[in-house]
Amino acid sequence: LRKAVIAGNWKMNKTPTEAKELIAAIAPLVKDAGCDVVACTPFVDLSSAQEAAEGTNIQIGAENCHWEKSGAYTGEISADMLVSMGVKIVIIGHSERRQYFGETDVTVQKRVRAALDAGMTVILCVGETLEQREQGITSELVAMQTKIALGGVSAEELKRVVIAYEPVWAIGTGKTATAEQANEVCHTIREVICELYGKASADGITIQYGGSMNAANAAELLAQPDVDGGLIGGASLKPNDFAVIVEAA
Ligand code: 13P
Repeated sequence: LRKAVIAGNWKMNKTPTEAKELIAAIAPLVKDAGCDVVACTPFVDLSSAQEAAEGTNIQIGAENCHWEKSGAYTGEISADMLVSMGVKIVIIGHSERRQYFGETDVTVQKRVRAALDAGMTVILCVGETLEQREQGITSELVAMQTKIALGGVSAEELKRVVIAYEPVWAIGTGKTATAEQANEVCHTIREVICELYGKASADGITIQYGGSMNAANAAELLAQPDVDGGLIGGASLKPNDFAVIVEAA
């Protein structure tokens, strides 16, 4: 059926030298993984991380990309630039970008479009804040984020999309969603995909959970039927913890 994907999101951590060391430390621990293993690193770390990952089963991804191919967009990086250096995976719409950098559902859609046009695989992040959960609008909100982000994406292109459900209140807080909560929302997302693309696409798409996933709670979360992997922040910087999560997938 669908392949589990465990992806690290390093966020704004590690220098190029440290990135090389971290990949080198992780590689032997995950070499027999039964799932796809990805490390998404800061732009400046991509080259050295790729060098360290050569000949291993670790794929290196980026954490964002711009929607234009080139031009006057100071500080931005295009999907084509990433592809030119062999980077084929990119996280789009992470909640930290939505919260701190003015990312909206509309800019997420544009970035998804650009990444897919460049031939990349997208890890699309969706998820509710604590206020939204308490208001009881989690399902509607996550459904809307998913629908807008995938506007114009074909069923064929959807094969290069992984969705990460990341409740904002669980990110970096040590508060993990319960396995039931994680599965419930991942299931909702799968229903949205079914509505938009049909059952085969819904059965085939990889849906990850992210938010304080760690070595202790990964097995229970990953055992849920609709949770096909994880997007890992803090624990992805710790080789042994990350390896335990990969092992659990
Ligand atoms: P933490 O695992 O540090 O909570 O971060 C999750 C996340 O945001 C991954 O994208």
